[in-house]
Amino acid sequence: MAQHMQILDNALDAVGKTPLIRLDKIAQSHGLKCNLLGKAEFMSVGGSVKDRIAKAMVEAAEKDGILIPGQSVVIEPTSGNTGSLPLILLGVASIDTVFGHVGIGLALACAIKGYSVIITLPNKMSLEKEALLRALGAEVIRTPNVPHDSPESLISSVLSVARRLEKEIPGGVILDQYRNVNNPLAHEWTTGPEIIDAIVSTPSTPARPSSGKVDAIVAGAGTGGTVTGLSRAVRKHNKDCIVVGIDPKGSILALPEALNVEGAGSSYVVEGIGYDFIPDVLVQKEVDAWLKTEDDESFLAVQQLMRKEGLLVGGSSGSALSGALRWLKTEEGSKVASTPGANVVVVLPDGVRNYMSKPWFLKIAMESEPTPLREIIGKILQKE
Ligand code: PMP
Repeated sequence: MAQHMQILDNALDAVGKTPLIRLDKIAQSHGLKCNLLGKAEFMSVGGSVKDRIAKAMVEAAEKDGILIPGQSVVIEPTSGNTGSLPLILLGVASIDTVFGHVGIGLALACAIKGYSVIITLPNKMSLEKEALLRALGAEVIRTPNVPHDSPESLISSVLSVARRLEKEIPGGVILDQYRNVNNPLAHEWTTGPEIIDAIVSTPSTPARPSSGKVDAIVAGAGTGGTVTGLSRAVRKHNKDCIVVGIDPKGSILALPEALNVEGAGSSYVVEGIGYDFIPDVLVQKEVDAWLKTEDDESFLAVQQLMRKEGLLVGGSSGSALSGALRWLKTEEGSKVASTPGANVVVVLPDGVRNYMSKPWFLKIAMESEPTPLREIIGKILQKE
């Protein structure tokens, strides 16, 4: 029978409400007795977990009178790196991740609500990114690729330009996802409850046993809004739920700090997670266990999600999955892994749309083992 569907008022009603999907084949191949479940955030209308916070920040700012219809202009600096740390610490501006999903979420929300949007973007960012933002009606300002410590950076970096525009454009507002309480709140109030609701509403059966609660949840940290907000939501539902945070090697978000020593300062390709400063909205203590991940294992996990489960996800989804699988082998995790019906949720923050031209994706997409089928095809075609 078809699911109960209703007409939505507009695309903002299609933010979030993403499915929780069993990852049975991956669970089986790792010998897990627990349920492994993926929260498919790439199915949100703008394509990522960031739609939720863009909507929440815009709506809260409207309520607080910070955004005024017909007057306000939302300005978002989208940086390709974390080099502007001093400016962020001074509270001068916020930055976005390499791919700037929040920019897309904001452009989408503002298109619907009728606000103008300006995104400042470094020259090095892809044309696809600019096109996506422009397609949503945003103004895109390209800024030179200047080192953060150069004097020129103070005038021409994405942050400085955004800040100047905010000052001089009447009604200019930077919403600042790194400090905005609506970032973690969006996850505490929507992502978390959706996960809990899906688990509570799915009956336990002999074939598919379920504890009826979230026993562990695994999420990567960028701003940390997702993992912090989810932690608050799941603890209200099950105080024993174990919250696992994923941080790439080279980033400093994990605790204890000793975890961050190996590979300190090194760069990584996976986008959207990890920083070289601690964003205000990340409360590290609210995460029970941190795991550090590497690019290779993350991309291999993406390949598994695609080939075994049909999920076209981005790199940070692979990090979350490979971190989850490693955690399930630790002393604490293996108790969960060996419990039939225990529910382990992995957050899959975005889809592959954003990475179709990246070498890592092309590599995992194109590589494959020789198969009997290919041999048969080869023989048939040779005959001609
Ligand atoms: N993955 C991707 C692709 C992201 O864009 C983000 C957001 N930066 C995250 C993971 C992590 O989310 P959060 O900022 O809530 O920690």
